[in-house]
Amino acid sequence: MKFKNFLLRFINKRLRTCVIFNFHDIVADGQHARTDQISVATFRQQLTWIQQHFTIVRIDTLIEQFHNNSIIKPMAAVTFDDGYRSHFSLVKPILDEFEIKAAFYVSSAHLTKNYYWHDLVETFCQHSSNQQQLSLRNVLKSLSAKQLPSLIESIKYLTLADRKLVLSEIEEFTKPFMKERLLMNSSEVLALAGEGHLIGGHTLNHPILALESDIICKQEISDDLLALEALLQQKITSFAYPNGIPNQDFNDSHQQILASNGVKYAVNTHKSILTKPMNILSIPRINLFGSNESLHCNYLLRMIISSVFRSPN
Ligand SMILES: [Zn+2]
Repeated sequence: MKFKNFLLRFINKRLRTCVIFNFHDIVADGQHARTDQISVATFRQQLTWIQQHFTIVRIDTLIEQFHNNSIIKPMAAVTFDDGYRSHFSLVKPILDEFEIKAAFYVSSAHLTKNYYWHDLVETFCQHSSNQQQLSLRNVLKSLSAKQLPSLIESIKYLTLADRKLVLSEIEEFTKPFMKERLLMNSSEVLALAGEGHLIGGHTLNHPILALESDIICKQEISDDLLALEALLQQKITSFAYPNGIPNQDFNDSHQQILASNGVKYAVNTHKSILTKPMNILSIPRINLFGSNESLHCNYLLRMIISSVFRSPN
């Protein structure tokens, strides 16, 4: 273990590795964590490990220095997608303790909502009988000819309009069980910005942009940026693509919409360290899994090796 940490430290120093680490929802210790969630204890462990290997700066500083070739040591930034309430209640105090400034990508139409559609589906599955789930699957099949790999993945790849149709059925049944507010409100986002964290756009309603018409994409991007700008009284220049897989969830036309709205850099979910040449409207991020340091080392070393052998294009 010590050797792997040493090796990674040595390689990072030589190559001046730069990485953006992405997180989603964090849950309190002892609470059930879904696959896209981690516990506070795991988050602390991951952050400690990142800080042992990288100097953590805010994403805008990292991008600027990487772009200007002025990186002199291994550097990292941390980002959080989707504006979960845990980002304010659980993450912020830990970031304060570690003296880290992070970036939070917020879907602004959710600032007045209590949960995301996938939180609703999760609760629906917990409380519905098998028969109700089967009837829902039939609804989904009628909307898409493709084989459905999983409920959440299927709904994710519906257009906003189709998603609304399916979710209205689920929401009617599930609403009584959704008592807790899971998402940040405006004043919590404002407080994060006030403490020096960066707030970025993430569309109004979190659609897969590649599934939507040009008109809807323009609206989803520019209205989101305008809403955040009105709230924070500052220009929003950073953006994270919902779901974020390049050429699947977004493409060049969405990058153009961002550029015409004054966005200077945008992040995706393609798993890679930062490499040159870099398209600053499609910057990769990685996420760690669990709390095993040896696995973190293996993962990063694999990322570095694949980036070294990737032919420039
Ligand atoms: Zn998201």
